[in-house]
Amino acid sequence: MSKPKKVVVVGAGWAGLGATYHLAKQGYDVTLLEASPYPGGLVAGWKTEDGKSIEAGIHGFWYPYQNIFQLVKELELNPFTNLTRSSQYSPAGLEVESPIFQDEPLLPTPLGTFLYTKFKRLPLSDRLSALPLLYSLIDFDNSPEAWERYDKVTARELFKQFGVSSRLYKDAFEPMLLVGLFAPGEQCSAAATLGMLYYFILAHQPDFDVVWCRGTVGEMIFKPWVDKIESLGGKILTNKRVTDIIVNDQGIAKGVSCDEESFAADAVILGVSISGIKKIVTQSKVLNQYPEFSNLSNLGAIDVLATRLWFDKKVDIPLPSNACFGFDKTTGWTFFDLNNLHDEYKDLPGTVIEADFYHANQLLTMNDEQIIKKVHQDLTTCVPGFANANIMDSRVIKVRQGVTHFAPGSYQYLLSAKSPISNLYLSGDWVITNHGSWSQEKAYVTGLEAANLVIEKLGGNPAKIIPVEPDEPHIKLGRVINQNLRNIMNNLIPQFWLP
Ligand SMILES: Cc1cc2nc3c(=O)[nH]c(=O)nc-3n(C[C@H](O)[C@H](O)[C@H](O)COP(=O)(O)OP(=O)(O)OC[C@H]3O[C@@H](n4cnc5c(N)ncnc54)[C@H](O)[C@@H]3O)c2cc1C
Repeated sequence: MSKPKKVVVVGAGWAGLGATYHLAKQGYDVTLLEASPYPGGLVAGWKTEDGKSIEAGIHGFWYPYQNIFQLVKELELNPFTNLTRSSQYSPAGLEVESPIFQDEPLLPTPLGTFLYTKFKRLPLSDRLSALPLLYSLIDFDNSPEAWERYDKVTARELFKQFGVSSRLYKDAFEPMLLVGLFAPGEQCSAAATLGMLYYFILAHQPDFDVVWCRGTVGEMIFKPWVDKIESLGGKILTNKRVTDIIVNDQGIAKGVSCDEESFAADAVILGVSISGIKKIVTQSKVLNQYPEFSNLSNLGAIDVLATRLWFDKKVDIPLPSNACFGFDKTTGWTFFDLNNLHDEYKDLPGTVIEADFYHANQLLTMNDEQIIKKVHQDLTTCVPGFANANIMDSRVIKVRQGVTHFAPGSYQYLLSAKSPISNLYLSGDWVITNHGSWSQEKAYVTGLEAANLVIEKLGGNPAKIIPVEPDEPHIKLGRVINQNLRNIMNNLIPQFWLP
């Protein structure tokens, strides 16, 4: 029997683990190299010295994450809470409450989202100003042409152009951007904005319904997943930072190097973040010869901050998951009642809160004590009961340049799974795919897509990837009509103006 082909996967986040798992199932000799001490990437979790679970930010799993839900089923895990309702707060207090959308009578999208979301203060006239924006949702169909058309426009300009009121933008759309794309509207690509809003909120009424892990994702999903991969023969090596790709005279990848150490491979999959790949390219003697890789220097990432606080008494928090806006100019934040979500904290006499800040640049200059003081103040603004609770313990995790920045104009520099090196493939939440998913689900799907490209080249059965749910019929019809009109116009009028 011939020896199994060797594949090296770099980076043990959703993307890298997804690729490694499928290739191990297909009998490949697969080695996953991870720079940090734990697998999980941005979703890694670990224990403090006194045994408390922490993680670099809590992670939700939205209704459209069908590939991740399928994986969890296959691994026979039961990690998730029931569906949770959520609120939004501003310094003025409670602003919005969301129901569980799939429990409400089903309406053609986006009616359910507009009618069932309970805005406490936002006047109807402001909410109605979102209507013209529906055209752009029809026009943006996630195709490469649509990305090129919308990517160089900022989200703020898009909303302005379509007549969205200033209050609706500030109280609804910008908070969604800060939580969904980690940046304020003037720093987000309109293409990414439309893709993200459609996927998480607008494509189908239940899309915004979300579950959380009943502990850290690291404990509840990654640990058993890593065990399963190892039982299939996959090797997962931590504290291995890949510094270069090794190629032969024909420019085919032969393996990777971690400083002095090298790992041979018939194919290589990179599952690292934007900051990760930029570092590899900078050090590499190979990758920086290709403009596609050098151009990655034009991409950026965003600072985030994750905090966990243990209070001495129970504070009554109306809903378990909460998004907040208006506290800092360009920073959004969320807080979660972990007594409600995590089994470990259910019967604790005190309150445990996770509070995560996105686009947290200015907060990273503060020391931990200052940060925790600010978190306590902001929590008290939302839920006054925190004023009487004392902090017993806390943890602060600063993730510098951690998450992908879908900045205006960035699409031209993003890469897809196939790289200029024929047996080197890319995966991760920043890699171009026409699947339509975002965040963790996208990272996992791109990992499977990269594994499938290896399989196409070297043999085996491809992973089954569940496509996103098709557009509802009226959206599909709208898109066909719009596309036909666009084609007619393009034939009649030469491409004279900027797209
Ligand atoms: C605070 C916070 C909250 C979030 N909330 C949500 C949420 O609620 N829902 C959601 O779906 N998504 C959320 N996200 C986004 C989500 O975490 C990411 O989309 C997803 O984890 C990306 O996975 P990935 O595999 O693409 O990359 P990563 O998780 O970044 O993994 C890349 C891995 O590569 C490793 N690496 C880098 N360079 C090298 C090298 N040279 N050699 C070896 N290894 C290397 C890194 O150490 C890392 O482990 C959140 C992110 C943060 C930070």
